[in-house]
Amino acid sequence: MNQTITECAQQVLAGENLQRGQIDRLVSAAGQDFDDLLYWSNQIRQQYFGNKIRLCSIVPGRLGGCNQDCAFCAQSARYNTHVDKTPQTLTDDEILAAAAEAKRNGVPHFGIVYSGRAVTEAELVRLERLIAKITREMGLGMCAALGIINADQARRLAAAGLTRYNHNLETSERHFGRIVTTHMYADRVAAVRAAQSAGLGICAGGIFGIGETEADRIDMALSLRDLSVDTVPMNFLHPIPGTPLGDTPPLSPREILTIIALYRFILPRTNLKVAGGRTLNLRDLQSWIFKAGATSILTGNYLTTAGRSAQDDLQMLHDLGMETF
Ligand code: SF4
Repeated sequence: MNQTITECAQQVLAGENLQRGQIDRLVSAAGQDFDDLLYWSNQIRQQYFGNKIRLCSIVPGRLGGCNQDCAFCAQSARYNTHVDKTPQTLTDDEILAAAAEAKRNGVPHFGIVYSGRAVTEAELVRLERLIAKITREMGLGMCAALGIINADQARRLAAAGLTRYNHNLETSERHFGRIVTTHMYADRVAAVRAAQSAGLGICAGGIFGIGETEADRIDMALSLRDLSVDTVPMNFLHPIPGTPLGDTPPLSPREILTIIALYRFILPRTNLKVAGGRTLNLRDLQSWIFKAGATSILTGNYLTTAGRSAQDDLQMLHDLGMETF
């Protein structure tokens, strides 16, 4: 067994956080001993989560037509992609039908995602009504990703029944300006804090394979640890033709599994959710994400790309002897 990986794992299993210097040594060791890294990331997952995996699905309440310029995103109206430049908003019936389908499929957590920097007052009023209906009448746990919100908006969403707010940091503060120029990293952190001030759980993570360095990945993990987020969505670039990152080569499955494992060491009690890019980039190694330390998956379609059906994912979890929560 690799001594550095083993010592780091034992410290995490004893309930102590790793410090930056230790993490840097762990990163170097991980490059040499992939099997040892996955052995221990799996031990850490089992200690803190047992065999429980959380499933969630999302619906694009508003798709495309975004005036922001996130370099990986098919929904930015600044790029010529397969997504319409005019925002497409689902009707109440379409959103409620998607929630009912999640419930039928045994997916207990349902999220509404809006493209764009923020929502208007009229949109917020409509969302309060939909959230109340989905949580109280259907009994689903609800999360929303509505861009940058303030504390008052967060309080209203929480009062309507929302339990978690999604707002990704996307990458490290250092790398952020190379990926997004239309808003600041600080805006994202402020929105996370606003949601926290209303008592909402926080789902915040980012996207990998967008030209970031190993240090950027670790910096983002430490920022998320400082923010005490409870769920970290991990997206792996699915290059979208027409975006500035459209020709970026995707990460290899082993690199993706290494990133997940390192996050499990750094964020041992945090729910790690593998989201966009899972099916495209991991291919046959999808089920390895749990050995690497993942404790959640986004099932069904992603926002602008196809995913796997809930039935296929539930079968995979059943075959692995895992339970959903
Ligand atoms: S990630 Fe969100 S804010 Fe950025 S371009 Fe896409 S929809 Fe707009």
